[in-house]
Amino acid sequence: MEKIVDLLSRISTLYDIPLWVINTGAVAIFLILIASPFMVRYLMRPKYYKFREMILFKVLWRWKYKQGEVIGLWCYCPKCQAMLMVDDENCRSEETLQHKLTFFVCHECGGHELGRVVGGDRRYVMSLVKRDIWKHIREGSYTEVSSATKDALGLYTSLETQKDIETHEEAPKDDVVEEVSSEEIKKDGI
Ligand SMILES: [Zn+2]
Repeated sequence: MEKIVDLLSRISTLYDIPLWVINTGAVAIFLILIASPFMVRYLMRPKYYKFREMILFKVLWRWKYKQGEVIGLWCYCPKCQAMLMVDDENCRSEETLQHKLTFFVCHECGGHELGRVVGGDRRYVMSLVKRDIWKHIREGSYTEVSSATKDALGLYTSLETQKDIETHEEAPKDDVVEEVSSEEIKKDGI
């Protein structure tokens, strides 16, 4: 480290450049050298790496990629984006494929069923989703699926905000009634 500092100050005196300019340049070069492998990896990654969510079986699926593999695949609520509960308990006792069911439930939205898949348990569902992901990547339709998903999620969000506004619009009325009644109580008290 001392040698580097010494070298930089010698360059500074030799070429008559202010030391701070030399130091800033050295730091910049150092940072570029450190960042470049990450930059190269980022720029070299496949285009489909941007495709990381889609709606299938009426629920939102999100995942990541690692070394060309889909990892961290899980389902989320398309309305509130919370992680979903997957219920496939019946698959262990049921023998017939048609009776094997996997349900998706959002506890944040009242615990109702959001969607279901007939024919197998969660591993089966995951394999179906993965197959669909790779199909879109292979056929090059993932860009359309990505933008369709974004549109759908935007629609869900605007519907939810609308609902919120509606409930908030109703809320003040209740407040007024409460205020009146509490005032009445006070008057009664006097
Ligand atoms: Zn939800």
